[in-house]
Amino acid sequence: MDKLTLKAMAKINLGLDVVRRRPDGYHEVRMIMQTVGLYDRLTFEKTKDDTLRLESSMKRLPTDGNNLIIRAASLLKEEFGIREGLSIRLDKRIPVAAGMAGGSTDAAAALTAVNRMFDLGLTEEQLKERAVKIGADVPYCLQGGTALSEGIGEILTALPPAPACHVVVAKPPIHVSTKWVYQNLHLEQVTEHPDIDGMTESIRQGDYAGVVRRLSNVLESVTVPRYPVIAQIRDFLRENGADGALMSGSGPTVFALFDDRQRARQALDALQKTGLAAQTFLTALTERTCVEQD
Ligand code: ATP
Repeated sequence: MDKLTLKAMAKINLGLDVVRRRPDGYHEVRMIMQTVGLYDRLTFEKTKDDTLRLESSMKRLPTDGNNLIIRAASLLKEEFGIREGLSIRLDKRIPVAAGMAGGSTDAAAALTAVNRMFDLGLTEEQLKERAVKIGADVPYCLQGGTALSEGIGEILTALPPAPACHVVVAKPPIHVSTKWVYQNLHLEQVTEHPDIDGMTESIRQGDYAGVVRRLSNVLESVTVPRYPVIAQIRDFLRENGADGALMSGSGPTVFALFDDRQRARQALDALQKTGLAAQTFLTALTERTCVEQD
């Protein structure tokens, strides 16, 4: 195989709790991860010159070893002594630094592509062992679908598909650093934690109303007071027909769930008129990650 194009899907968090801060500074989390149909397109082409070259549609992204795509591809290239190179083209659509695991899903796609194009024969489990060295969310991005993620994000329990629904994604015109969010999370002051076990149970039972009722992200306690636009978008979507709305990951992206596509479309149109969001999308939950482009 000389050429491969993959769609690398984004994720949202239907629930996000932080359990404790470990002595080494990492935070132990309990998150309900969910793939959505919003994706980056990555095209990989073999070259004879033994180098990895990346071209990105978004010019402010790094294209050297600081890009997770190059890190992921080099990791396998070095381990398996691959002598050929790759020319990689990234068409970026997933909002960047937005809590949607854009970089992690690109890295997962790069691991998948190198494994397939160079016939390395690694199983998903073996890819995940390597993925965690790139980032805590990369193993999940290889697996995709609905999952409970624990530890620092690397302990994954697959769940049945969450009840099907439509998703409006809206990113406000601000940047929020994940590091800043975790540094400013004061767990001792958090009195109400998301009901992750209840969310897991609602998903297992296919209970859409239960899922919507339990949407909760402990990191909103840090971001919302500092960036009111997050709550403005979330509350606007709730007041305009969403069944539920929440910030994803460490933000600032907000997503809203709808059981009716037309209602989702109307809420999206209304939100666009407010000018609160810089990027908006209408998508749906999906169980597939890293899909080959036909
Ligand atoms: P998460 O949900 O895992 O916290 P995120 O959405 O907050 O992820 P990303 O979009 O993955 O954040 O990117 C964060 C930073 O990583 C960017 O500022 C960018 O410079 C760097 N980065 C490296 N590789 C990539 C990539 N392929 N796509 C996007 N960002 C990348």
